[in-house]
Amino acid sequence: MSHTGSSGGQPGPQRTTDRATALSEPTRAYAELVAGNRRFVDGAPRHPNQDAGHRAAVADGQHPFAVIVGCSDSRLAAEIIFDRGLGDLFVVRTAGHTAGPEVLGSVEYAVTVLGTPLVVVLGHDSCGAVQAARESAATGTAPSGHLRAVVDAVLPSLHRAAAEGVDDIDGIVDIHIAQTVETLLGQSPVLADEVARGRCAVVGVSYRLAAGAVRPVAAVPAGFATPAESTDPAAPATV
Ligand SMILES: [Zn+2]
Repeated sequence: MSHTGSSGGQPGPQRTTDRATALSEPTRAYAELVAGNRRFVDGAPRHPNQDAGHRAAVADGQHPFAVIVGCSDSRLAAEIIFDRGLGDLFVVRTAGHTAGPEVLGSVEYAVTVLGTPLVVVLGHDSCGAVQAARESAATGTAPSGHLRAVVDAVLPSLHRAAAEGVDDIDGIVDIHIAQTVETLLGQSPVLADEVARGRCAVVGVSYRLAAGAVRPVAAVPAGFATPAESTDPAAPATV
């Protein structure tokens, strides 16, 4: 990556709608994440941008190259699994990567104010939030407290999985990731406009807890993230 300096710096938030360079920034940002995940999978992380010097350098401003809308699962720490550091990733995490108003507002802030060119929805196998929603739907009971809001936000993905004949938990997770990508774009005209202008892309990736690898399961614009860019050797075709 030409933008990667000795300290493992980030892609700049340069903006353009020029046809020749449209999507160059999102493409570079995604490649950076895939490369970092590969290092993590291989057990050869560089831990870029985690030193005291870089901490001081980014104190006056941030230019993260990717927004991560991820599940809160404790095994899904974004900077670790993508081998990045301070100032690189704008991370928003909720159980089951549910995307309510505060999440949408946070994404819009990163994309429009900070100029971040890539939004990644990060889900994973054996997701507890998806399992909870599945159990709730199966038993016809709703969880108590605010956990219900999480379950309610996942239920549309369960209905979509049922309509598509998918009943294994990891297949449902993939559908929920794709559903979250659609929710972000459907609920945020601001984000959709940035994508339509070629200044931003949205990718849904599924992470495997044991292997540590991600594979793309959904992308807008279509074809943005291809299976070849997956770090999972068993990656199926992009949905
Ligand atoms: Zn989860």
